[in-house]
Amino acid sequence: TAHKAQDIQEIVSHFAIQGHTAGGTPYGSGHIHDTYYIKNLQADCPDYLLQRINHQVFKNVPLLMENIEQVTAHLRSKLENIPGAEPDKEVLTLVPTRHQASYYQDEAGNFWRLYLLLQGTRSYDLVESPQQAYEGGKAFGRFQALLADMDASLLHESIPDFHNVEHRLRQFTQAIKHNQKDRVKHVQPEIDFVMQRAQLMSTICRLGREGKLPLRITHNDTKFNNVLLDSQDKAQCVIDLDTVMPGYVAYDYGDAIRTTAATAAEDEKDLSKIDIDLNLFRGFTQGFLEETCASLTDEEIGSLSLGITLLPFIMGLRFLTDYIDGDHYYKIHFPEHNLQRAQAQFRLVEVLEDKLELLQGIIEEISAACHQATTKQTK
Ligand code: ADP
Ligand code: MG
Ligand code: MG
Repeated sequence: TAHKAQDIQEIVSHFAIQGHTAGGTPYGSGHIHDTYYIKNLQADCPDYLLQRINHQVFKNVPLLMENIEQVTAHLRSKLENIPGAEPDKEVLTLVPTRHQASYYQDEAGNFWRLYLLLQGTRSYDLVESPQQAYEGGKAFGRFQALLADMDASLLHESIPDFHNVEHRLRQFTQAIKHNQKDRVKHVQPEIDFVMQRAQLMSTICRLGREGKLPLRITHNDTKFNNVLLDSQDKAQCVIDLDTVMPGYVAYDYGDAIRTTAATAAEDEKDLSKIDIDLNLFRGFTQGFLEETCASLTDEEIGSLSLGITLLPFIMGLRFLTDYIDGDHYYKIHFPEHNLQRAQAQFRLVEVLEDKLELLQGIIEEISAACHQATTKQTK
């Protein structure tokens, strides 16, 4: 769905840009939006990044853009008060339209937004080393810590109940009841797997309701390719802020571990390949806790290991639900794809369950060391 150069040019003309640009080229490997690199033809003027927002996935674009405006403003004001920080490089900057709006809607109903392009950065789809995992942890940890004093109730839920496992379990029960494609009889072992864990997996929801875990502002898409690294491979900026909304910190941590430290693809067919890479796990956890240990409560640090198994469980549950429903949410590449994805995610849950004590131990060891380092600093 690439747009023509003159269309891009027309769209960009609605934004308050400096210099002048001509057309744009598709950029990055995001799966959700159409992203274009907009080069500036005038020296000393910035390049831009144009995105057509996927409004099938994000039903309420105005509210989503309000979230992004609020979050980037908060991050910017925090960084302005940190010596040595560079807000222009470390936070996304939205370029307003000529009518001071944060997005432009074209005649076809598409929503467009423009960011300053962060020069000299790149993102990686797969983590290549523990050092990179550490930088990913730093980036998402810092993001979390800088937003710790922002009122979560200011933000809208851009996708309601996104990581709410109780809601996902209700959708699952409905799918089984309707049994649209008569597939329930093929997935009894997977259904049993879910039922055996339903209660335990609801622990974070319950602790939240009981007031034992604070509602934070979370990113909710903590994949490694949503961190821009600089030319030295150091974390520079967290991007892809569409799903930023109220949530529990274990969600961000758990989804990052699921996507950075697993040894196989999300839909791996050969279940024996699915494992967790302890060096990547350690690297991410170290970076994340260095940045967050001062702002998280002890209960939250204790909840991180719940997130490790919860996030692959939720993903598996969503894939399985879609399989039972007849595959209308996720794109599939072959008939049993959603079932294969669910089985891979559930295998990952099992592997993580087996290693949970070990993982919990690593989290505790790193958080104790981080706490010690911060008390030393403040003495
Ligand atoms: P999606 O939701 O489709 O993943 P992203 O917002 O993550 O969209 O953007 C897609 C890709 O574009 C990113 O992986 C990154 O490589 C690149 N990108 C996004 N924003 C910027 C920016 N401000 N500067 C440089 N590159 C960016
Ligand atoms: Mg992305
Ligand atoms: Mg995205």
